[in-house]
Amino acid sequence: MAPEILRNIPSVNELLESQPLKTLTTQVTRSVVVTRIRDFLDNLREEAKQTTSDLPLPSELAERIASWIVTSEQSPLRPVINATGILLHTGLGRAPMATEAITEMHALASGYCSLEIDLETGERSQRHVAVGQLLQELTGAEAALVVNNNAGATLLTLAALASGKEVIVSRGELVEIGGSYRLPDVMATSGASLREVGTTNKTRLPDYADAIGESTAALLKVHTSNYAIVGFTEQTKVTDLVRLAAKHRCLVIDDIGSGALIDYSRFGLNGEPVARASIQAGADVVLFSGDKLLGGPQCGIIVGRRSIVETIKKHPLSRALRVDKLTLGALAATLKLYRDPELAEESVPLLSLLSTSLENLHLRANNMAAQLEALDSVTSAEVVEDETFLGGGSLPTQRVSTWCVSLQPKGRKVDDLARSLRTGNPAIFGRVQQDRLLLDLRTVFPTQDVQIIQGVESLTAPETESECNQA
Ligand SMILES: *Cc1c(COP(=O)(O)O)cnc(C)c1O
Repeated sequence: MAPEILRNIPSVNELLESQPLKTLTTQVTRSVVVTRIRDFLDNLREEAKQTTSDLPLPSELAERIASWIVTSEQSPLRPVINATGILLHTGLGRAPMATEAITEMHALASGYCSLEIDLETGERSQRHVAVGQLLQELTGAEAALVVNNNAGATLLTLAALASGKEVIVSRGELVEIGGSYRLPDVMATSGASLREVGTTNKTRLPDYADAIGESTAALLKVHTSNYAIVGFTEQTKVTDLVRLAAKHRCLVIDDIGSGALIDYSRFGLNGEPVARASIQAGADVVLFSGDKLLGGPQCGIIVGRRSIVETIKKHPLSRALRVDKLTLGALAATLKLYRDPELAEESVPLLSLLSTSLENLHLRANNMAAQLEALDSVTSAEVVEDETFLGGGSLPTQRVSTWCVSLQPKGRKVDDLARSLRTGNPAIFGRVQQDRLLLDLRTVFPTQDVQIIQGVESLTAPETESECNQA
């Protein structure tokens, strides 16, 4: 674009008179449209200095600006279809919530609610009452407290029970859950000192016993949720830690991570610690997440002995980490479903995805592949059996069987196909593997099958043939 063409660029006012932008001012605030047109024209002037191509026609320019505004107005936070197969994908918001939880949040959000008022007496009460009773019922604990997330639960518990004292942890259990959560850092922030014992692969009861001293406040057990130490290994059971701690008048804190309320072996997954079992074994405090295996809202759950939970509740960090009415409502609604494990399996989305039969996934994959293969943008769509993981820092070694549609695009690279689907509407996330895009049905709700097909169908052709041949 030659510099003399610059003066041919339409004015903001002229552009505002064009149909596409005029329409937009009724959908997006006028001032936003004006600002965005100015930004676009500024960019265009900058580009004009560097290229020799012609200015688009005014009508075409208006169209381009309008579609740019529409794209930039879309929230970066929006619903996506998860076809990665990873059931607890932290990047995709972990567990989807049950209808019962959503209905409850809607009801509580729409008006006022009895968050801290006892309806009988009209007196002030505690916001945890409703959820506390359910957690006691489902875990066998005497009392419960809910905070922002499990990282918060761990920080608060250590600060309240062990600040200025020592906490003993096995070297095999010093976990990192995603870059920002490292147990030694959380421990340091809480004011407690970490006393590591044992070795990476073996820690026995005498290792703990030798380390216990005057300043020991607690023995902390941490579930190695996202890794496994296999081979020549040994860990100490909660019951043994409890016996040892009782002799030395210190506490046992058990961070079980994922928060299984029921035995997951019914879904073919073994070895996930269950909250009730840890309480039964005598742990003083048990910590877990609400949005991992439990399949509820993001939160950190603390259950345990009444006097100890009360101490934790009184710590100032407890107020700083407290959850709102929506979280409490959603958690209570989710917990109610667990009173009947069959009902939980049907109604908690994570559990229904996990328990969908392979026959069901195979059938749907066959259907989807046949329809995708007929599309112009697709070279081949094959049905493949595969294995996926739970993800989100859960069960690293246990695989979940699944069926996928393996897509080979036509006229574009696999990464380009993956990007187009991610940025489409609805956004669709698959898994790129060996130069194919796998759409894994383990994490796709049956009603989304048709949306995936429409998503691939609506892909616009890649820019030009020659461009992708060069690529
Ligand atoms: C996931 C996890 C955490 C962190 O929980 P968030 O709810 O993500 O804060 C802490 N400890 C263990 C063992 C975990 O698995």
